[in-house]
Amino acid sequence: MKLPISVIRLFSKIKQIPAPISITLVSGILMYAVNFSIKDSATDFNLKASLSELNAFPLDMPNVKYDLLLDTMEVRSAIIKPDQFMVDILKSYELTEDQINNIILKAGKVFDLTKLRAGKSYSVMCKKLTETPYYFIYEPDQYGYLKLDFRDTLSASYVKKNIQTNLKISKGIVSTTLSESMTENGLSYDLIDKMEDALAYTVDFYHVQKNDNFKVLYEDHAIDGKSVGVGKMYGAYFEQNGKDYYAIYYKKGDKEGYYDLEGRPMKRFFLKAPVKFSRISSGFSLKRFHPVLKYNRPHFGTDYAAAAGTPIMTVGNGVIIEASRNPFNGNYVKVKHDATYTTQYLHMSRIAKGIRKGVRVTQGQTIGYVGSTGLATGPHVCFRFWKNGVQCNHLREKTGENPVMNKSDLPEFFKIRDEVVRKLNVVKKTSPQNIMDEGTESHP
Ligand SMILES: [Zn+2]
Repeated sequence: MKLPISVIRLFSKIKQIPAPISITLVSGILMYAVNFSIKDSATDFNLKASLSELNAFPLDMPNVKYDLLLDTMEVRSAIIKPDQFMVDILKSYELTEDQINNIILKAGKVFDLTKLRAGKSYSVMCKKLTETPYYFIYEPDQYGYLKLDFRDTLSASYVKKNIQTNLKISKGIVSTTLSESMTENGLSYDLIDKMEDALAYTVDFYHVQKNDNFKVLYEDHAIDGKSVGVGKMYGAYFEQNGKDYYAIYYKKGDKEGYYDLEGRPMKRFFLKAPVKFSRISSGFSLKRFHPVLKYNRPHFGTDYAAAAGTPIMTVGNGVIIEASRNPFNGNYVKVKHDATYTTQYLHMSRIAKGIRKGVRVTQGQTIGYVGSTGLATGPHVCFRFWKNGVQCNHLREKTGENPVMNKSDLPEFFKIRDEVVRKLNVVKKTSPQNIMDEGTESHP
């Protein structure tokens, strides 16, 4: 089994952990990573699962930064002024013109010197009580820094900082919208995206409700103890309308993705709906009073009302077989997915750029925009679905159900699943009561 880099990083961390912690190595990193990083007794929000916490930290540390013993040097920091170039900065130190030209040449080979930004700071480390520079340091961002070394032979390097990976569990409860609830709880948009991606086919994220609960188990990337990003998400939990949904990450060979508790891939053949942030304004029916024609006739589609201009997505991969306009359908697009299924999207304000007969489209791709062209009273998309040439109600079709993964992989998957679920359950759900308590405290 090939371990991903993050796993190797974790493994090298684990070696530093003192006894008496034992490592049970079961089918990959996930098992021990999860075991280690989370304290079972803790139930606080944003439980920090830091492996480094397990290490004692020496109290009297020398002042080391950029791998330099700063106490032995004179550190001069300043802000880069507008129109100030590297050469201008270096000129104020005891360096010859040759040395300056030489080091700038070398620096340019490891770092794009046009990325020196006015307003950002730099540091020059000098020999004590002199203007003789030893080092120049410039940190363009949190991921690394440019280091110029003026001692002996001049040299320049760009040093990438060490990224630490910690497992974390975060949780929350929906008070308004999902993304607001997650950002309120200090979770990044990246993590919100990951959770939505993993659960999009089972949880209806466009109709989240107050008190819906969520938890996520993921890798947090930190530099110098400061969180800089989100790595792999190992598991997600969402409670909607009293139902529990889980997505468990599993990788086997070149297949990787999220699976439900039974081992079915979360990703489905068709999206639940062709538009986000919509509501069904009229369902599929064999007899319906037509609002424009004013008589009963069958409605062989499902209407999704949404704001005009909302992107319409193809619910599955396929080929465009029609992208046209007529008095009834208005602007419309028809997609053939395979020998069995075809879908159609009506009343578009306009068809998306590049969408025409013969073009290949992928699930979720925008093919047009909500409008009310043709026979329509207001902005909506009439979504039509054919199975073997017969129009039917896609909401009744079992097209979403995926077959379970290979039977031979199930035992390994179940071990990982049980561990992820156990860890997610260690952290108690946020109860609506908590939210109210917090509310009264902060708003007396
Ligand atoms: Zn319709």
